[in-house]
Amino acid sequence: MKVVKFGGSSVASAEQFKKVANIILADSDRRMVVVSAPGKRHESDIKTTDLLIRLAESVTDKGYDEEVLYLIVSRYSEIIKDLSLHESLVNDIKDTLLKAIEDYRHDEDRLMDALKASGEDNNAKVMAAYLSSLNQEAYYISPKEAGMVVTDEPGNARILPDAYANLEKLRDRKGILVIPGFFGYSNKGHIVTFPRGGSDITGSIVAAGVGATEYENFTDVDSIYSVNPKLVENPMEIKELTYREMRELAYSGFSVFHDEALQPVVRKKIPVVVKNTNHPEAPGTRIVHERKVSGYPVVGIASDTDFCSINITKYLMNREVGFGRHLLEILEDEGISFEHTPSGIDNMSVIVRGDQLKNGKEERIIHRIRTELFVDDVQIERFLAMIMVVGEGMAKTLGIASKATMALSDAGVNIKMINQGSSEGSMMFGVNEDQVDLAVTSLYHAYFSPVGVR
Ligand code: ASP
Repeated sequence: MKVVKFGGSSVASAEQFKKVANIILADSDRRMVVVSAPGKRHESDIKTTDLLIRLAESVTDKGYDEEVLYLIVSRYSEIIKDLSLHESLVNDIKDTLLKAIEDYRHDEDRLMDALKASGEDNNAKVMAAYLSSLNQEAYYISPKEAGMVVTDEPGNARILPDAYANLEKLRDRKGILVIPGFFGYSNKGHIVTFPRGGSDITGSIVAAGVGATEYENFTDVDSIYSVNPKLVENPMEIKELTYREMRELAYSGFSVFHDEALQPVVRKKIPVVVKNTNHPEAPGTRIVHERKVSGYPVVGIASDTDFCSINITKYLMNREVGFGRHLLEILEDEGISFEHTPSGIDNMSVIVRGDQLKNGKEERIIHRIRTELFVDDVQIERFLAMIMVVGEGMAKTLGIASKATMALSDAGVNIKMINQGSSEGSMMFGVNEDQVDLAVTSLYHAYFSPVGVR
């Protein structure tokens, strides 16, 4: 049994729905289908989820933005009409939106989640109706019925362990089951969404729950590439990579796959295959537990911006027992998670995502570090980018770091930080944001040119 997830652009129009149906029906193992909300049909289009967010934000005691509601309903009505499905579906969708507004108009967070979730929920209903219209036995399954229980944190749901046992029961159901992505239900019965892009997470949870043989994730690219194709022309396609490699790449900016989505399938060692709805014949990229390393030692290079470094200096820091703990406790008190902690004998930096230092947190942290840790100096450096060079093959290969430093120095990029974990499966470079694209491009050419390290 395979779980197949279709992303927003794969279910953005009637034409895309037809491709999706062909894909599902081409393989009888494709029994569980997870769908996103209708995404962009072209570059300048607006995702339905973004429209739903706008609608939620427009709700006041006096009403809501009718124009936005109209745009949302139109997205579905166009699909429904072009697929020759029953018009009553359109009215049902409009009614669910109006009911969500009515029910939650006085609770901003719940309203936002209910409307955001409706994007995928309604699309799953349309998909099930379409498959049925093709004489297939297909059913819409709501996350409530499926037992997709999650924590009660609006916009940031996490799956609860019970969900897996609940989902396992779906194995006994007949036909093709269509499940909306992106949300679950809390034990209190509220709709709660995962973070943005969270339909990937649903797919992965369903795959783990039903014990799928494979989790196929259909998007609009032929494969995952070794580097952002916007930076390098015709970059290398990745045929296979491990969960760990994918996790590192997704963390540092590869947006093909939600980085939280791997966790459920990793535990069960279920292979993930990223494929293209518009070109399903292409083999895609397989993400697996283990792979045989051959060819290039580096599998991919990714980068992300908006990092900050809290740089702390204190003479004899290395001899002070508990310094690191106390420092991290200050961050913990402010609810800040850290990404890396490069250090020297008398200095330590803590790298955090820039958006975590808002709302006066920066000032409070600096103040506490100064007054409680008696440091010689503390400064915050902003506008940093982190580049991750990733590959299981790096561990056994000499010269990986020298290749990087040479390429960066040839390109005139100043390295502000270097970090390599003990697994040697990745290497991180911190550079200024304005040099990041240049840095990534030169690293790519250093590792993937025909004369690269093999
Ligand atoms: N529709 C949601 C979003 O745009 C979730 C998803 O597509 O994965 O974030």
